[in-house]
Amino acid sequence: MTSLNGKVALITGAASGLGKAIAELYAKHGASVAIADINQQAADAVAAEINAAGGKAIGVAMDVTDEAAVDAGTDKVVATFGQLDILISNAGVQIINPIDQFSYADWKKMLAIHLDGGFLTTRAALKHMYKVDGSGKSHGGIVIYMGSVHSHEASKLKAPYVAAKHGLLGLARTLAKEGAEHGVRSHVICPGFVRTPLVEKQIPEQARELGISEDEVIRNVMLKDTVDATFTTVDDIAQTALYLATFPSAALTGQSIVVSHGWYMQ
Ligand code: NAD
Repeated sequence: MTSLNGKVALITGAASGLGKAIAELYAKHGASVAIADINQQAADAVAAEINAAGGKAIGVAMDVTDEAAVDAGTDKVVATFGQLDILISNAGVQIINPIDQFSYADWKKMLAIHLDGGFLTTRAALKHMYKVDGSGKSHGGIVIYMGSVHSHEASKLKAPYVAAKHGLLGLARTLAKEGAEHGVRSHVICPGFVRTPLVEKQIPEQARELGISEDEVIRNVMLKDTVDATFTTVDDIAQTALYLATFPSAALTGQSIVVSHGWYMQ
């Protein structure tokens, strides 16, 4: 079995959906995992489940848009587990509206969670990953951003989401260049639609906005360009995150990996 033994992973938005699935898989493969989420109760519950199953986890209260909370939460993970090897910057929400009707407040909220959150969690993690040990070598690490097919494609009603997810490619590629000399690699995972709470909420919302049935949203919007009319799963994404975290060399860095049943091919 691929091993993350001895590794420490901080996963934001891990109280639900994709982040939770990654945390569970990483724990199964030996990593100590920090479940960071704005919803502390839910984060603690996921950590308790992982501990009960024989893994090692803590819940961390963290709003990824709050600079002080991100710095303090990340330091707490290192104080608890001794180091930080993997950051999965995953927390996210969705707000849909046509551009002409988007409030500036909602636009800024989306950019703050998806893009500022990516920056703040990265900077807090690099403080530990760039740390030089007695042998003069940086600790190193891997940063994985949860992008989306919307890091490459646009869809109606999702302007700030699409803009922010495109922006993460720039952040990841810059980090791949700056981080190389410190042993830090970075990637963006770009999922197609996965039936998490974030997507379940959108199905009726899109049906209303587009004036079509929920079934049509699934068939004609969400799965329209897949090769097999199939949703991506949380496990597909967790397995991809495991592959990237265990890849043995920096041959793989600065990449975006699209996992979408062929919706987007690059
Ligand atoms: P989800 O709603 O199941 O989980 C998101 C988690 O993020 C929740 O636990 C929530 O409490 C947390 N969160 C929200 N705002 C936060 C904040 N400010 N600080 C910290 N935590 C916060 O959603 P999901 O589908 O698992 O989404 C996870 C990521 O995957 C998001 O970035 C999303 O854009 C991306 N994504 C999802 C899909 C999909 O189809 N589900 C597709 C592509 C990309």
